[in-house]
Amino acid sequence: MGQSTISADETDPREPTVRCDRCGKLGVIARATRHSDPALILRYCATCWPVASEELEARLQAEHDQRRHSPNATPAPPGWTTSSRSWHDVTRFLDLIAQSAKGGKTPSHEELASIAAEIQTKAAEFSGEMPAEVAVFIRLNSPPAA
Ligand SMILES: [Zn+2]
Repeated sequence: MGQSTISADETDPREPTVRCDRCGKLGVIARATRHSDPALILRYCATCWPVASEELEARLQAEHDQRRHSPNATPAPPGWTTSSRSWHDVTRFLDLIAQSAKGGKTPSHEELASIAAEIQTKAAEFSGEMPAEVAVFIRLNSPPAA
């Protein structure tokens, strides 16, 4: 099908001297890259990223819909990669896990523990305070201290 997607970019998106593409505030914590030629790179602050990422998903969805209606008219649009240090993304991810658990696809204890450990390791890089629900997730899924 050649559908374009949003996938993870492992590089650190934090740039304290760059202005947000949405509000102009100094200091960005998220980056979205469209792999077109030339590439389009958008950078956002912690406040704007939740809205910007939703707009990005909506835009991609609209392109998919358009292509479904006329699959031969346009070439597959280039994909995106995103990287952020936003707690918003972590809470969304934890919501997805909770939803898939409800649907019967329960992640194993090992998987949950490794997710908790990864969040814990990166916590200092994230913008702002850790949300209570994330702290609870880490507490519930971390192995007891030796
Ligand atoms: Zn902003």
